[in-house]
Amino acid sequence: MERLRGTGVSTGVAIGTALVAVQRTQVIRYQLAPERVADELAALERARQRSREQLQQVRRRLAALRGRELAAIFDAQILLLDDPMLATRASALVRDERVNAEWAVQHAFDEVAALLNDPAEPALGERTGDLRDLAQRLRANLRTEQRGRSGPFEQLDGPCVVVADELTPSAVAQLDWTRIGGFATDIGSRTHHTAIMARSLGVPAVVGLGDASLRVPAGATVIIDADSGEIVVDPTPAVQREAEARLRLSRARSLVVARAPEGPLTTADGLRITLEANLDRPEEIPGALAAGAEGIGLYRSEVLLAGSRPERAGEAHQYAIYRRLLEDMRGRPVTIRTFDVDERPPGRDLGGGSLQAPWLGEPDTRDGHAGLRGIRFALATPTIFRTQLRALLRAASHGWLRIVFPFVSGVEEMRAARRLVDDVRQELAGAGQEAPPVLLGAMIEVPSAALMAAALACTADFFAIGTNDLIQYTLAVDRADERVSAHYQPLHPAILRLIRHVRRSAAREGIPVSVCGEMASDPVLLPLLIGCGLRTFSMTPAAIAAARAVVGRTDSRALARVAGHAVRFGTTEEVERYLARLEVSAVAADPV
Ligand code: PEP
Ligand code: MG
Repeated sequence: MERLRGTGVSTGVAIGTALVAVQRTQVIRYQLAPERVADELAALERARQRSREQLQQVRRRLAALRGRELAAIFDAQILLLDDPMLATRASALVRDERVNAEWAVQHAFDEVAALLNDPAEPALGERTGDLRDLAQRLRANLRTEQRGRSGPFEQLDGPCVVVADELTPSAVAQLDWTRIGGFATDIGSRTHHTAIMARSLGVPAVVGLGDASLRVPAGATVIIDADSGEIVVDPTPAVQREAEARLRLSRARSLVVARAPEGPLTTADGLRITLEANLDRPEEIPGALAAGAEGIGLYRSEVLLAGSRPERAGEAHQYAIYRRLLEDMRGRPVTIRTFDVDERPPGRDLGGGSLQAPWLGEPDTRDGHAGLRGIRFALATPTIFRTQLRALLRAASHGWLRIVFPFVSGVEEMRAARRLVDDVRQELAGAGQEAPPVLLGAMIEVPSAALMAAALACTADFFAIGTNDLIQYTLAVDRADERVSAHYQPLHPAILRLIRHVRRSAAREGIPVSVCGEMASDPVLLPLLIGCGLRTFSMTPAAIAAARAVVGRTDSRALARVAGHAVRFGTTEEVERYLARLEVSAVAADPV
């Protein structure tokens, strides 16, 4: 038995056979049942033959076009197909270790590449290039083979859990959670989108485990304990029994139908506070309403793309989802955020879509989040943006819609987005489809937008403060990188000052402002946000019950004094020490 420590980002426990996904090389590794080994070896042999035919064809074509010399490059690759270090080694791995052929090919390649990686012998490096090319071809052909056969989930008996180096949010959205109990990843933090997705799906997840994907053998029994932030590999029977008992209990609890709390929510001194839900899927609406959500404060529309490219999201599909959100919320406000996608420069992904494990989604290069993202992407790709706006405006007549733009960095972007909305509105009116008025808001999650809040408040109808990114960019801390997670400090005085400034700027222009970042759902931080003057918060539905209880016990006037004092400190540590001494921390730190 081995215990690995990470960060629990949701709640609950999952037990299952480990399905190990290594996205760095974009190959999943799984254990084969003994009777499947022969099939897998045959598939590998067919992929080898197919690769040979393809290479011979390429060589013939090239020889005809450019002469024999260039075509000879492919002679080398054809010869390498018989190199014992690649295909033969891969077959041995499949036979001896009962692993899938695709992983075996990649592993055999990694072994050879390590041998050839000698800086004193650059010529060997060229051979690595040929080998890599060949390994990729073999894997692609194996995948073609695989399409007609059952996938890894069908080959596993009983429940499984995913252990991966990293998982993108779209991969999490796409996985079949009826068959997978939970996941664990090497990287990540509480505010990473993958973690947010785990909470909204109610999937136990532990992230930031360092090298779990290398240490956990495929097929091992793994307990994912999101409550303690730990995973247990090969548990003893006693530890497994205890986890199973907890799993049964949480299943039984989830069957109890919750009733929506009655009456408006107020602080102990009678100040009205509104809690809304951050949703990723319309299916979450009943749970959110039962928890007491008074609206949707953030619907992350990019989730509906499920990893596919935004231009593929048709108007009809989007319209159906937006309409359903509005109808199911029965007249309550629904804030839909336009796609917060991040288009990376060509060549920045990890090897091209054709080689991706289809269920893993887009590779997530963690350095690529400040490029053509959010509203910038929308304005740079007006066809995609207009399609989304058309779908939104057409759906608007089915409820109370608010549109919010992500990643706004200044007034010009907000104005440009508004012009496009007006244009699409006119276009629809011209076709006899009048859309009702819709409020247009700005996410305040880029420091420049926070600093320019006074000017932005004149062009936006409302603000939604996205503390996840605001903290990330103000403090220059990648929210997915566990190595710098200690520097991700919501209580940093700079963050508190920015939030207070945004709230005051909104108040001066008389526009509503809410907080929809994870800070709002933290029972320790929520009172301080109330102290900063905020009254509307949006959070994952699972956090609403605790937030209601915290709000009911707070005194907004005392909290205003506390917040006023807290922003004057110079360091996070001083703020924390100050709060720890006060009643506010006692209220907040007393979880329900
Ligand atoms: C945020 O940045 O706080 C936010 C709510 O947006 P997301 O987490 O989707 O980036
Ligand atoms: Mg954000």
